[in-house]
Amino acid sequence: MTRYDNEAERTFVALPPAQGRGFAQTWWGRAWLKALEDAAMDAAQVKTGRRLARAGAVGAVSVRPGRITAVVHDRDRTAHRADVLLERLSDAQWDRFVDMAIERSGHVAALLDRDMPPHLVEDAAAAGIDLLPGMGDLEPECDCGAWDHCGHTAALCYQVARLLDQDPFVLLLMRGRAEGAVLEALQTQGSAPAEAVAPRPEGVDAAEAYAAGQVLPPLPAPPGLGDGPGVPPSLDTEAAAPPGVEPSCLSFLASRTAAEAHRLLAEALRAGHDGRAVGPEPTVAQDAVRLAAGDPGPDVLDRLSDGSGRTREALAAAVRAWRLGGGAALSVLEEEWAVEGDAAARARAALESAWEEDERPSLRARANRWTVVGAPHQLRLDREGRWWPYRREHGRWVPVGGADQDPATALAAAALATGDET
Ligand SMILES: [Zn+2]
Repeated sequence: MTRYDNEAERTFVALPPAQGRGFAQTWWGRAWLKALEDAAMDAAQVKTGRRLARAGAVGAVSVRPGRITAVVHDRDRTAHRADVLLERLSDAQWDRFVDMAIERSGHVAALLDRDMPPHLVEDAAAAGIDLLPGMGDLEPECDCGAWDHCGHTAALCYQVARLLDQDPFVLLLMRGRAEGAVLEALQTQGSAPAEAVAPRPEGVDAAEAYAAGQVLPPLPAPPGLGDGPGVPPSLDTEAAAPPGVEPSCLSFLASRTAAEAHRLLAEALRAGHDGRAVGPEPTVAQDAVRLAAGDPGPDVLDRLSDGSGRTREALAAAVRAWRLGGGAALSVLEEEWAVEGDAAARARAALESAWEEDERPSLRARANRWTVVGAPHQLRLDREGRWWPYRREHGRWVPVGGADQDPATALAAAALATGDET
């Protein structure tokens, strides 16, 4: 979980939509939600909130002593600032909490393990300290004007349940003290076991880390496409931006980046389904080109050309194609296929409408390749009906530009490239 901390505020970036599971996995997360669900006058608002949180409508969550805040987007994208207030512990209560935790050192160890044993909460309650909120303790404040919990404040509570699950110190911060302050108090009050509150070590033993690598869980499945690009985290917190950072520009860039990433992913997945080269699992021959495009040294290039059954010159041409258009460009370079049926009719129409009668070059066709008579220029048609400019260089046809829907534009690129060989 990414987070940005300062003394008394932690801001958690927006979480991805929650898929098919409850929001609270831990007993304390569930207790937190129960305080919301039991107190809300309108069960429909609680349900709306759960739906919004599940859909990823809650922006970055700011957690401060006594208050959590987020911008929540309605279905129609209207943004609302939602706050939920929770009473802070007094200094006297904090002192008692620290005393209690020192007496039961297991409590501190559990907290550092991001666990909150029921005994800890019971012991705290016995000392007159309510850590978890009870019914009615979560006080809503929303700019939509609702006087009770609305969908926005409820959504915020659901999102915070996910944060609490991961780190019970979030609850302690809401109650008034950041993790660092709690640990410092434990240390200065003296009798806490040193190992329980010792600062985390700077690094880990290399042999241990290597051994742990064997037991890491497998990588998660690649992400699905969802309904559209995700919503970048809201930057609307009360912490001021550092100098030189303009939040509105940054938000715009983030949303454009998300949209572009979504488009690229959709394209890659679609291409993969068509069995073309830019899919998630390239063939060995394609992958050799991808690797060669990373500018390895000469010995690696030799291995890649041997391993993929290409000469060094053929591999160099393949790398050129790869850089111009990935797997699609590579297949245009290395494969030849008959253009038939509808594709042939579309190609003919494109060639006919591309030039005025008196400017049309004389083209000799073979399979999906059209070569200009008397010039080292060629057009190659890909399976999506796009035209790729090629030139003959040192006895070999090589791609010299990206694809275009218009054959005249593509051929102009071939003619503009340098290194004519007639
Ligand atoms: Zn609201």
